[in-house]
Amino acid sequence: MEHKSLPSISQPDKIGCSLPPLEVPPSKLPPKELLRQELGLPEVSEGELVRYFTSLSKFNYGVDTGFYPLGSCTMKYNPKWHEEVAKLPGFTSVHPYQPIDSVQGALRLMSELQELLTEITGMAATSLAPMAGSQGELANILMVKAYHQSRGDKIRQKILLPDSAHGTNPATSAMCGFKAVTIPSNDKGNLDIKSLKSMMNEEVAALALTIPTTLALFDPQIAEISQLVHERGGLLFGDGANLNSLLGRVKFGDLGFDCVQLNLHKTFSTPHGGGGPGSGPVCVKPILTDFLPSPSVTKNRGKYIFTSSTKTIGSLGAAYGNFGVMIKAYAYIRSLGAEGLKEVSENAVINANYLKEKLKAYYYLPYDRTCLHEVVFSGKRQKAKGIRTLDIAKRLLDYGFHPPTIYFPLVVEEAIMIEPTETESKETLDAFIDAMKKIAKEAEENPEILHTAPHNTPIRRLDEATAARKLDLRW
Ligand SMILES: *Cc1c(COP(=O)(O)O)cnc(C)c1O
Repeated sequence: MEHKSLPSISQPDKIGCSLPPLEVPPSKLPPKELLRQELGLPEVSEGELVRYFTSLSKFNYGVDTGFYPLGSCTMKYNPKWHEEVAKLPGFTSVHPYQPIDSVQGALRLMSELQELLTEITGMAATSLAPMAGSQGELANILMVKAYHQSRGDKIRQKILLPDSAHGTNPATSAMCGFKAVTIPSNDKGNLDIKSLKSMMNEEVAALALTIPTTLALFDPQIAEISQLVHERGGLLFGDGANLNSLLGRVKFGDLGFDCVQLNLHKTFSTPHGGGGPGSGPVCVKPILTDFLPSPSVTKNRGKYIFTSSTKTIGSLGAAYGNFGVMIKAYAYIRSLGAEGLKEVSENAVINANYLKEKLKAYYYLPYDRTCLHEVVFSGKRQKAKGIRTLDIAKRLLDYGFHPPTIYFPLVVEEAIMIEPTETESKETLDAFIDAMKKIAKEAEENPEILHTAPHNTPIRRLDEATAARKLDLRW
């Protein structure tokens, strides 16, 4: 059905609500010069208004309406009952500064979540204070800095990062006063060890590494990398934003990492995106526990209390982090248990590899090896025929799918980064594979249909440049 804009259904003197006569004297209007003459408010009836907003709401696409394979963002189904749990009055009606004796349950949840995340990552201690993945990175790099300074080591000015790193990694390093230095990846998508050997010296504070890499690969050289970094006094910083391929199987601590941040709003049952609340706990080895952001929750003579590490980098926000997100993460971990978490990683990896195998005859696969929770293709085969990856993404909308992440990671030309997640069924994956195959065929036989896609959506192809520069979010 065609969606009509509000101005087009507006008619003078139509009324959407009626107010009772005033029972109090009307208050004075502001001075005339502050009043606008023409507000141009639409005039519609109540029923029309309800229909207008209801039809708008149906254009919204999310994981609850369909497949949403946005790589690097983990748009997975998160159990609805975790939202219910987070809404329990005992959780929503507590105040951050009410007497500690009256919020022992909330503190216990935080304390147990700290322990669970410490165990999951194989570290020594966890702070739940950071409120985003990037803030967790900030906390980690500040701890790295504080650690070196506390040892009187002041010449370490650099953070090394692979070229596939998430943009927040170099940004965080720079914010903390470090120079971000890029290490190239090799043709297998792993860190180039030769380059690391030549670049790792006493000026390097830490190597920041994402596991799985942003190409969704496991770097099998990790033990050697860890040794090379530690031999020269550096620390190994892990970006663990996307943990759903490792849960219950691989621990950052065992791989040699000194600190890692997690994204509870990607892996642990809080939807990611749209600027909603996040939580980016940091988990550290014993050498960094003194520097943890404050507060932490500890148990002292049977009572939970907030404490601060001796050389803490300080607090990261007004109170204790995003408590609502912590509740959902706790519910997720406790309801799945160790075996359930293992199943998560198993299914995440199997689903991504299933897509990889089924689609690699149709789209160029730059790194043809087992991937982890997502798979990165390149649209370069189609590009040779004048089709951009953007065209493929737009055409997917016509087939009823949210497009995958495109043009990221930057190291892959015309990248198409697909994350199926652990929660999708084989039927859904097959339907997506089917659509991708049809698009590959259309690219050969009818490229025009791709250039002009989408055809079935309420809004057709946007002018990307204008949309980015003159953002207009109103209908
Ligand atoms: C999402 C993500 C981040 C940043 O997390 P935010 O919560 O958006 O700040 C950092 N690193 C990687 C690898 C990510 O995928």
